[in-house]
Amino acid sequence: MKKNNIFISKLTNKQPTKDITADDIKYKLKKVTSKKNLISVKVSKDIIFSKKNIPIIAGPNGVESRKLIFTVAKYLKKQGVKILRGHAYKPLTFPYRSKQYNETMGQGMDWLDEVKRHVGMKIVTEVTEIQYLDRINLTADILQIGSRNMQNLELLKEVAKIQKPIILKRHFGASLRDLLGAAEHILVEGNKNIILCERGISTPHTHRETSRFILDIQAIPALKELINFPVISDPSHATFWAPWVAPLAYSSIAAGCDGLIIEMHPNPPKSAVDPLQPLNFAQFKEFIQKSKKFAKILNRNII
Ligand code: PEP
Ligand code: MN
Repeated sequence: MKKNNIFISKLTNKQPTKDITADDIKYKLKKVTSKKNLISVKVSKDIIFSKKNIPIIAGPNGVESRKLIFTVAKYLKKQGVKILRGHAYKPLTFPYRSKQYNETMGQGMDWLDEVKRHVGMKIVTEVTEIQYLDRINLTADILQIGSRNMQNLELLKEVAKIQKPIILKRHFGASLRDLLGAAEHILVEGNKNIILCERGISTPHTHRETSRFILDIQAIPALKELINFPVISDPSHATFWAPWVAPLAYSSIAAGCDGLIIEMHPNPPKSAVDPLQPLNFAQFKEFIQKSKKFAKILNRNII
């Protein structure tokens, strides 16, 4: 009985969101985040992740084909979206790479380059390995570290050295402390252009019919309490299910996210990977219109 009491009193003296101690963030993270305001991450003159803006990053899962990426980019441009996502190099849960997944690699990067110049979009794409970094860097405006590579420290180091904005996705099994530790690896290379991304975590109730991951909405205010890098949300990869993407995007805005990643595709059932999760064009249009209203309530702009 006595032991129990001691245990409980220890627990109740702790603040519940704090698996990160002041000690953990006493190095560069502390220096950078001790300034009061959100750190603005500038992609271009008119695309800044800031206290005011909530940039939308949208596009298909993989670049798939020249036609697909042009069709999507032109549509997004009309909707006012400025940042296109699409991966030419793809991490896959199972190792069987085949044409079915359309990992278009160098050719996909060339299509992204064309789209960037002809349609006028900024490009986010994933760096899976150091060997692809030079090619990706020629085209990408924001380099994405995928959740599976969150603690690939050599990769983080090389990507950080480029000094471009980095989207660092939280691994689905990683604590916030692990995520901030990974961010610190970017910071020590002198790169402060860090955008943290919550994309869903595994829990005992996930990986079933009901949901693949659970979007950890709470991570958004929790991270923002500790650091002042932009924190964005990716409800597409969390839910794996298109009908839930918009509601969780709106919830993310309410929770204070500083940007959103939304997967979309002109014909979702035909998407080479994860065909259940992209929004179609009509769904995307509705999402943009409604998210502007939600953002306005909080005095923020969807860009
Ligand atoms: C993606 O953005 O396409 C992706 C693979 O995301 P994650 O690393 O979060 O699974
Ligand atoms: Mn994906």
